[in-house]
This record gives sequence, C-alpha cells and structure tokens, in this order.
Amino acid sequence: MSNAVKVEVLSARDVPLGGPRSMTVRRTLPQRARTLIGAWCFVDHYGPDDVADTGGMDVAPHPHTGLQTVSWLFTGEIEHRDSLGTHAFVRPGELNLMTGGHGISHTEVSTPRTTVLHGVQLWVALPDEHRHADRDFQHHVPTPVEMEGAEVRVFLGELQTSSSPVRTFTPLLGAELLLRPHATLKLTVNADFEHGLLVDKGQVDMAGTLLNPAELGYLGPGRDTLTLTNDTDDAARLILLGGEPFEEELVMWWNFVGRTHEDIARAREDWTTGDRFGVVKGYEGDPLPAPELPNVPLKPRGRVR
Ligand code: MN
Repeated sequence: MSNAVKVEVLSARDVPLGGPRSMTVRRTLPQRARTLIGAWCFVDHYGPDDVADTGGMDVAPHPHTGLQTVSWLFTGEIEHRDSLGTHAFVRPGELNLMTGGHGISHTEVSTPRTTVLHGVQLWVALPDEHRHADRDFQHHVPTPVEMEGAEVRVFLGELQTSSSPVRTFTPLLGAELLLRPHATLKLTVNADFEHGLLVDKGQVDMAGTLLNPAELGYLGPGRDTLTLTNDTDDAARLILLGGEPFEEELVMWWNFVGRTHEDIARAREDWTTGDRFGVVKGYEGDPLPAPELPNVPLKPRGRVR
C-alpha cells in the first residue's frame, strides 16, 4: 500500500448554543468541505467547561426527526428526559443513543453535581427506509479493552476484537481511544468505511498527518489499516467515527433531518402545533420554539467526495 495517504483536516467553528451564559461548542461536521462521515452527520465537541462560568447545559424540550443522537461524555453528568418517558443520566464512558425516527422530543440538563462538562454530541442520519422509525432510547456501557498502547471503548459497531451490541440502521463505527504517550496503534479497519478522527486532547499523527485538539481528520474508504501515533509525553484522547459512505442527499435544518424542504417545513409545523414529537415530562420550563424558516427553499446536500 502506498504511503501517500491523504488525510483531510477539518477545523472546528465555534457555535454558541444559547442560554443565559451561553455554552459554546466546537462544530466540525457538517461543514462546506464535508457533510457526512458514513451516516455521521453532526459532530459537536465541548469543554472542558467550568459550569460555574458557562452555566452548564440546560436545553429545554426540543424535537428531533430523521436522526439518532449520541451523547458521550468525558467529564460531568447530564440528565436526559424524552417523550418516550425515558429518564436517564448520561455519564462518562456510557453510550446514550436516542432514535428520533418519526419524532421525539427531549431535554438535556447538566446535574448539580457537575462541575466540569466535557464531551461530544453526535448525530447519525437515518436511511430513508427507517427515517420514520419508532422513537427509541438505548443505553450501553462498553467494556474498555486494551489494544497496543491504547484503551479503547467501542460504543457502536466493531473494531478489531471489540464490538457493541447496539443496533444501528447503517454500518457504523464509534469508539473512544485513549492513546498513551509515545504509543503507536495500528488498527485493522473496514476498508468499505470512511473514517473520521476527532482529537479531544493531545496531539496525534493520523496516517502521516498531525492533528491538534478539536480537529477532525478524515480518510476516505479503501484502506484496511489505520495507524495512529502519539509522539508526545501526554496521553491523547480521540473519538474514532466510521461508516459506509451514505449516498442519500439530506436536508438538515435546526434539529431535523429530512430529504426535502417540505419535510422540514412539515416537521416545523408539527412541532409548533401538533403532537408528532410527544411531550417531555418532568422539565420545568417552556419548550424551545422553532426558528423561522429561511426565505429561500432549503436545498438537499449530499456526500462530498
Ligand atoms: Mn437534542
């Protein structure tokens, strides 16, 4: 195999989430250069934030359709409630996968015992045949496994000897890697997958390209190994995402994933007046109103090759 591997480096942009003191996230997906990695369509990375400064997380009831959400924490704790009746706590190293399907609504609030909030929020686009699936919520705690110089938690899909029992609608990989100082990890990966590597902390060489914190390295399909090297004196923490290229075009707007402008307009209308997304019990405060739709029709976007 040739050494000339082209890793595309995607930088984050800061996005304020709103709220009284406003928590800011670093968004690496979607962006102009890349809309998807497999069916992963949204990557938000935040913290470590001192909640005394940011006010923490307090997201009022809001809807989702056409997607799944993955909440994965490094530090802190988030209380989750949804219109399925789920009441769960999101904790470090524990997968919480919510399927919006046709429609769900939920709240996310950092708990009073949280002093530092640090993690990622990821979205998975549902394929057309499943995008109106029933709402669902799954919790899974992956057992950490040792792989040459790294501690690995596979929360979705499979990586070498480790796999997650959680069902996905398209072939996917999601894992946290803790790469020790001066360690090289040579992974066997699915050659049908494209991969993204988000650096949470530390500095890591991905197939010959150096990545810094908050950067997302992208590699296209067609290779069956992936070498990650940490040449520093400090451990690196990484999120590895992968999936088969997702060939459907999507319209993403606010908290919705659809196929057409009309899909989004209908979802917005259903959130404003209907009961499609159900009701979250146990949250004090009003639901989030949907923003106004833009004056021009929303356009579908496909995979960037
Ligand atoms: Mn949400």
